[in-house]
Order: sequence, then C-alpha cells, then structure tokens
Amino acid sequence: MYSRLRLIPNEDPTDSDLRIILVGKTGTGKSATGNTILGEEVFNSELSPNEVTTNCSRHSVVREGKKMSVIDMPGFCCISTTADQDMKRHLQKCVELSIPGPHVFLLVISLSERFTAEDVTTIKLIQKNFGEDAVKYTIVLFTHAEQLENKSLQGYVGQSKHLKTLTDKCGGRYHAFNNKNLADRSQVEDLLKMIDKMIEENGGGHYSNETFKEAQRKVKREETFNQGVDVVLGVASVVGTGAAVAGGVVLGVTEAVAVGGILVAGGAVAGVGFGVNLAVKKIKEKRKRERVGINN
Ligand code: GDP
Ligand code: MG
Repeated sequence: MYSRLRLIPNEDPTDSDLRIILVGKTGTGKSATGNTILGEEVFNSELSPNEVTTNCSRHSVVREGKKMSVIDMPGFCCISTTADQDMKRHLQKCVELSIPGPHVFLLVISLSERFTAEDVTTIKLIQKNFGEDAVKYTIVLFTHAEQLENKSLQGYVGQSKHLKTLTDKCGGRYHAFNNKNLADRSQVEDLLKMIDKMIEENGGGHYSNETFKEAQRKVKREETFNQGVDVVLGVASVVGTGAAVAGGVVLGVTEAVAVGGILVAGGAVAGVGFGVNLAVKKIKEKRKRERVGINN
C-alpha cells in the first residue's frame, strides 16, 4: 500500500472522480495493470492459459483527495459476438460499475507477445461493442515494459503497421507499464497525466452510458440482420433462426448490395437474377471466416 493512496470499500460508483475501465485480451495483464494503478494487489492476476478474471470487479482509492475507481473485466477473445452471451453480460456489468460512464478505457496489450491479426480482430470487436466514439476515451497501455530494454516504446510501436494504425486511431495516446515493479509510481503518475490531458481535450466529459446503449443496439441490429441473411442463404443453424425470420428481415445497405437479387418479404424468399449463387457463396465464406475469427 502506498502512502498517497487509500483503498476504500466499494460503494456507490457514481461518486468517483476518475473511472477507468480495463479492456483487452485474456492474459495481457489487465488485472496486473489495475493493481499497479491502485498500488495494491486487489485484482486477481496470475499466469494461466485460462481466464483468471471471471467477473467484472471494481476497486477504488483516494488519491490526492480524489476518488479513483478501476474496473477490471474478463478478457475479450476473438470469437463472434453472436456466440458470446457471457461477454455481453460482462460488458453490461462493467458499464454498470462505471456509471455514469468511464473517463478512460485502457486497452491493454502485452509487449511480450507478437501483435497478430487475431489481436486486430479482438480490438475491432471491443470497438464495435463500445461504439466508434470510444476511441476518444481510449489509451493503449502496453504491459511487460521491462522487455523493451534499451528500445523506445515509440520505436516499437512504429515497427508494426497494425499498432501504428491502432495508436493513431486512439489520438496517439499510449503508455507502458512494468507491472512487476509496483513500487515505480512514476509510471502511474505519467499515465494519470496522460489521462488528465485526454479528459481536458474531451471537454471534461466521459464516455456515456447512452453511447454504450446505442453501440449495443447497433450490434443487435447487425446480428439480427446477419441472422436473417444466414436464414435466407441457408447457412444458419436451425436454432434461433425462426425468430429472425418471424421478426421480419430487413436488408440493410451493405449486404443488400452483396445479396442483390434476393428478396425477403415476411419470411418468403425468392432468389432472382444472375449472380445470386456467387453472392451466396461469398457470404457463406464470410460467415465461415467470422466463425474462425478471421476478419477479411
Ligand atoms: P489478465 O488476464 O489480462 O487480467 O492478465 P493478468 O493480470 O492475470 O496477467 C497475466 C500474467 O502476466 C500474470 O502472470 C502477470 O504477473 C503477468 N504480467 C502482467 N503484466 C506484466 C508485466 O508488466 N511484466 C511481467 N513480467 N509480467 C506481467
Ligand atoms: Mg484478469
């Protein structure tokens, strides 16, 4: 426990001055990052091939007279949102714990692993679930900073096209922690300065619960649409397909182009025109890629 921080029991989440949500893939060091920020081992962090954090949790400290809350959540992984009801529950819970909304999302990435196409897919999934607006409130937090040795973090990021694109999207905000060095408070102070600057640039506001609800509505619409298209094309599983058809499938702009010539009306399906087979094949392939987590 560090002298300037005082751990306080969990109570009303709405009264905290700074709310931080940790997001990222399993095993990247989210819980360890939470502990470093709070200066105490409150989140369960350990080396494991499985998810150690099974529920969202929140811990708070008082720092310089202000209450700071950190919300830790189980890791995202690169599977389709349709299949992952647990993840939806976690997302909902973690937003509830940060009501009226987090000031910052720390997108945690480990420097000890190569940044892969799968990571890009996972991050897209996170962005999709929180909505496009979330990048305004996101800072990329690299863990395992000790592995940089003499290399600069900027140099490391610059070596990867994917990382460069990601950090640029997040307004060029990124930072690194060595979570094995809890005593190094300067790494935390630097992060907090970066957060303060970002909040100022965002006009003092935070990501809102409404934005989350809107993002979730969009995900839901997309899922219903995809389900509908799958029913039409016969690529969906039988379970749950009835609802999509009964609910009425509306062809949206994007895939309406791809499935041009397929008419859906109250469950009646008619394939018209040349090229439909090709469209069906393309969408089947797309679904297959989504199921294995490959994005385009
Ligand atoms: P989570 O699944 O994202 O919450 O990851 P954890 O916080 O449970 O961390 C997974 C493993 O990585 C644990 O063994 C941590 O001790 C280790 N770890 C996390 N951050 C660092 C770091 O900065 N340096 C080192 N060496 N290990 C770390
Ligand atoms: Mg964890």
